[in-house]
Amino acid sequence: MEKKNLDWANLSFSYIKTDKRFVANYKNGAWDEGQLTDDDKVVITECAGVLQYSQSCFEGLKAYTTEDGHVVCFRPDLNGQRMEDSCRRLEMPVFPADRFVEAVVETVRANLAWVPPYGSGATLYIRPYMFASSAVIGVKPADEYQFRILVTPVGPYFKGGAKPITIRVSDFDRAAPRGTGNIKAGLNYAMSLHPIMDAHRQGYAENMYLDPATRTKVEETGGANFIFITKDGKLVTPKSDSILPSITRRSLLYVAQHYLNMEVEEREVPLTEVPSFAEVGLCGTAAVISPVGKIVNHDEEICVPSGMDTMGPVLTKLYDTLTGIQMGRIEAPEGWIKRIA
Ligand SMILES: *Cc1c(COP(=O)(O)O)cnc(C)c1O
Repeated sequence: MEKKNLDWANLSFSYIKTDKRFVANYKNGAWDEGQLTDDDKVVITECAGVLQYSQSCFEGLKAYTTEDGHVVCFRPDLNGQRMEDSCRRLEMPVFPADRFVEAVVETVRANLAWVPPYGSGATLYIRPYMFASSAVIGVKPADEYQFRILVTPVGPYFKGGAKPITIRVSDFDRAAPRGTGNIKAGLNYAMSLHPIMDAHRQGYAENMYLDPATRTKVEETGGANFIFITKDGKLVTPKSDSILPSITRRSLLYVAQHYLNMEVEEREVPLTEVPSFAEVGLCGTAAVISPVGKIVNHDEEICVPSGMDTMGPVLTKLYDTLTGIQMGRIEAPEGWIKRIA
């Protein structure tokens, strides 16, 4: 198979149309077989549920080439299960996790020419998503839905190494108590666009959101969970019902415990505790870990001891171990790596 002639190392994180995408339709109470198609256009009624009442959810994962030349993806079963949870919360029909994984594999196999080569730092980003496709005008769930998977090659998240970022404590909330913060719904992102644009205009890379009920505890950013390293080398991560359960974060916790013999704590993290941590990172599929160097809370500046030049030593060890597992350089726990080709 001939690879596409792209400048892999210099791709950005933006959409490039690839050859094939997966489409399945839900109608009369059941999903059809689904199929691959060349057609990148979605044609739906002007009154579709997704357009009127935002009934939609999505997932995000990556396929990449390992050191020994296989194409794999990382724990896609967890993305399938998380999408099931998102669908249930939004009164959408579940696309079963096992069929989700099969469809991911089928879609990546049909676009192998677009999977970046090993060592380029680039990956094939996989975006499964579902939306209400039939008309609704009274407020209720739609009767028909479409599930699609598109793939697009994306460049290395950090060009020239991971530089620590400066973030701010947001005056906005990203989720409501007992709301939809724990599912991957498009609506959570729509309401985060103003806070993130405002943060960028003020010179911050990201927003640190606090718990919406009391605004005293750390939750997450718009698209990544927090991990903290204590001065005595423990990994601490916030626990809350309104945080999106990151697969990267759950994997890092496992790696910390079982590969690096670290103690881990998943618990409430008061904002007042943040100045006592030695290292702060954001974690998610896109960057795996992004180091945070400074957190600004109005007049207060919290300078993380690991500084503004490089990722701290413990986060670096976690990053190297997890990316080593993903790339096939370190043996993976059973079931973590799904071989596609
Ligand atoms: C997707 C997402 C994450 C990261 O989850 P991963 O499974 O690690 O990619 C974190 N926070 C939010 C709000 C997200 O939508």
